[in-house]
Amino acid sequence: MTNNFESLGLSKTLLEAVESEGYTNPTPVQEQSIPPLLAGRDVLGVAQTGTGKTAAFALPVLQIMSRSKTKGKRYIKALILSPTRELAAQIGERFSVYGEHLNIKHKVIFGGVNQNPQVRSLQKGIDVLIATPGRLLDLINQNHIDLGRVEFFVLDEADRMLDMGFIRDIKKVLKLLPKKRQNLLFSATMPKSIANLAGSFLHNQIMIDVSPKEITVDRIKQKIMFVRKADKRRLLTHLIKQEKVRCGIVFTRTKHGANRLVKQLDQSRINAVAIHGNKSQSARTKALAGFKDGSIAILVATDIASRGIDVDGITHVFNYDLPNEPESYVHRIGRTARAGRSGIAYGFCDESESGYLIGIQQLIGYEIDAEVNHEFHFSGAIPKPGQKPGKIKEKKPSNKKRQNTNKPKNYSKSKRNNNTTNRNKSQQSRSNKNFSRKSNYSRNSNNR
Ligand code: AMP
Repeated sequence: MTNNFESLGLSKTLLEAVESEGYTNPTPVQEQSIPPLLAGRDVLGVAQTGTGKTAAFALPVLQIMSRSKTKGKRYIKALILSPTRELAAQIGERFSVYGEHLNIKHKVIFGGVNQNPQVRSLQKGIDVLIATPGRLLDLINQNHIDLGRVEFFVLDEADRMLDMGFIRDIKKVLKLLPKKRQNLLFSATMPKSIANLAGSFLHNQIMIDVSPKEITVDRIKQKIMFVRKADKRRLLTHLIKQEKVRCGIVFTRTKHGANRLVKQLDQSRINAVAIHGNKSQSARTKALAGFKDGSIAILVATDIASRGIDVDGITHVFNYDLPNEPESYVHRIGRTARAGRSGIAYGFCDESESGYLIGIQQLIGYEIDAEVNHEFHFSGAIPKPGQKPGKIKEKKPSNKKRQNTNKPKNYSKSKRNNNTTNRNKSQQSRSNKNFSRKSNYSRNSNNR
């Protein structure tokens, strides 16, 4: 076998496993993390889902674990924490594939489903536990889980963990782990909060950076379309039909927006389902299965639900609402062009979202090509020269809602004031760091 994976020091069994998966070459994150992990080092990886990071940690963990045989009942030697159930399930599925010929047992546990089958598996004994934080702590509190002999701790999608408010849970889990262990932390981005968290438990770690810039540019074609909010649905329907999309994912900002859009697509005879946090686990699993087997053409998702959706054949990503966090854009478009294929990502920018577009472009470091030759083109949504990143238009909350909010009144007031200040500044055509030249959009657009 002339497999480049060989040079990474993987065992014959694992080399056969990756070969039967059709992997010919290791991805950059695999190339850089597998050797130090096999040598027992801690690893801090800046890599998003889609880069092959699961194999990057699963293969060495499996290999090191298979070196020694457990005498007596199995106990948890590796703990992998995932922010979402979907990602946890997919990591579990990868462990099944890579570890098929090894005597290593794993179990995936997450909330929203009956705990009894999970408890039974734990009682029988497992080697690898893949878990979301909530259910993990629940079962620890019920004395069903002992983390006292964990040798590997993997924290996956750490940035999403923090976004979802899991920091306290993570800290609780860390306290329950033995001091001597190998640690891995993967995160798509590396803000200070993650760097601090990493610093709190990684030791003498190797840092690997497969940053979004390198990922997004390659195989993903990106297009921005300027459109009125009210025309987005028609633009989407038009594109799905025109490009005969069979496997596409549409991102909306809210769960409600996702549900509404599915109904609207249905009226246009487009087969779509929504996937978001308010859906039951069985509804999510069913939606994903239908999407994977091709019976559902379009998945309408919110950001959190989409994390970990690992479907190789996604040809189209539609940013129906532009994300307000620029990093989410990178995660979203990473759903396409996976496993060596190409894909296209459309972004619909309406009159309230041009500031988000600026933020996204600052993050990725270039201006996304605009598609202006379409029926719904709306030049009013094009960013103004010198416009600042961020929110530019905000619906004022109703009085009723404002009374219900827990935030101190001054907070929302000062936030509004800041927005106004930004708006005023941007209107003064101040040049901005990355996009000081006159926007191509303004030059190209045929004002409608
Ligand atoms: P991940 O980033 O772990 O979610 O992996 C993304 C996708 O890439 C999965 O579908 C993997 O099966 C696939 N993959 C992982 N490693 C490789 C590789 N070396 N070559 C080709 N595909 C891979």
